[in-house]
Amino acid sequence: MNNMLINALGQLPELYTELDANDPLRNFRECFCIPIDKSGKQSVYLSGNSLGLQPKTARKYIEAELDDWARLGVEGHLHARHPWLPYHEFVTESLARLVGAKPLEVVAMNSLTVNLHLLMVSFYRPTKERYKIVIEKGAFPSDQYAVESQLKFHGFDPSDGLIELGPRDGEDRLRTGDILETIDREGNSIAMILLGGVNYYTGQAFDLRSITEAGHRKGCIVGFDLAHAAGNLVLQLHDWDVDFAAWCSYKYLNAGPGGIAGAFVHERHSLSFDLPRFAGWWGHDKDTRFLMGPRFIPLAGAEGWQLSNPPIFQLAALRASLEIFDEATMPMLREKSVRLSGYLEQLLKHINTDRIVIITPIESEERGCQLSIRVKNADKGLFEAVTGRGVFADWREPDVIRVAPVPLYNSFEDVARFAQILSECLNVRLDR
Ligand SMILES: *Cc1c(COP(=O)(O)O)cnc(C)c1O
Repeated sequence: MNNMLINALGQLPELYTELDANDPLRNFRECFCIPIDKSGKQSVYLSGNSLGLQPKTARKYIEAELDDWARLGVEGHLHARHPWLPYHEFVTESLARLVGAKPLEVVAMNSLTVNLHLLMVSFYRPTKERYKIVIEKGAFPSDQYAVESQLKFHGFDPSDGLIELGPRDGEDRLRTGDILETIDREGNSIAMILLGGVNYYTGQAFDLRSITEAGHRKGCIVGFDLAHAAGNLVLQLHDWDVDFAAWCSYKYLNAGPGGIAGAFVHERHSLSFDLPRFAGWWGHDKDTRFLMGPRFIPLAGAEGWQLSNPPIFQLAALRASLEIFDEATMPMLREKSVRLSGYLEQLLKHINTDRIVIITPIESEERGCQLSIRVKNADKGLFEAVTGRGVFADWREPDVIRVAPVPLYNSFEDVARFAQILSECLNVRLDR
């Protein structure tokens, strides 16, 4: 948001009308069910980083599978309008586009933490000299538990085996230079780097390409948890040469609670059948799977990591959502996202108080859509006042409100309403 635009179009808080009118993606909001607040108005839904909204087509797509199940029973595996046997393949191309991968490199399966474990079985191969795992300090707890349990599983002590990258004293965010320097310094003892694409707490987006390069220079495996990056940032996992990645699909991907997750394995590992892996029949060669033979013959690529036949209703919801992403396209979404979060940032700066500190980086390359707002001397009462007025947001102790304006369904008006409500709950003016 530059000042010239603001001056040309009017005062910042009223600017949303023009911004929404000129938004080429504004009609996508219509594709989603927006929760209604107490007064009967559409809520200001800024929790898409936690649970994305329901695409209106999700119900139709799930109902189609319920109908085919009722009509066909077991025959649905072959004769449903979208046959269940290959159903996961219907989302492959879209998933590949979404994360910048080849279709061979992605698969929809399981849930996120399960996929992290399955991928670590193959890609965390510690030796006596090279066994450490690099994560973010204050990583999402599930990731922390997962890597610590992997270390213990291989006989290592997490207090020695875990390298946690933390911000410098008095700072909130990691410096890219510090990350790269740690990898360079400790690289020979590092087996695997596993960072989030975007930190769930601060909203900081990491430089995945540079981190991958730095890790590979030192012979480390580099994987990413993209829970807060998939559907939020433009990703190029193939070109960045990332070894593996996993993400959930109920946050920015709007595939519903407990939705089926995604996994990426780089093409160069697609035929690495010598890697240890935990096997199940859905990872078996499709042509001979139903011969039910005793010997496991893995599929090439990410599909070879599947275990079970997948949940079709969850896949149906994911298919509904990914069709919308294909229509909107990630580059367009990202372009709006930068403007939408930029507008919110400007509005927050116009709230007449010195209690607000945005701990998310200000540079757009270093963040996704989420802004994490520290309100000094605030307690949960402030958050409750804000949410009581029809805002969906998220509170993190001790003093941080996380909001995620999502370019698919949030409007500039949503953002303006949030800033207005926050300023009123703080009993201060939103300056024009
Ligand atoms: C949301 C999230 C999870 C959740 O894991 P599930 O296995 O889907 O329950 C894990 N890690 C990160 C970084 C997340 O943001």
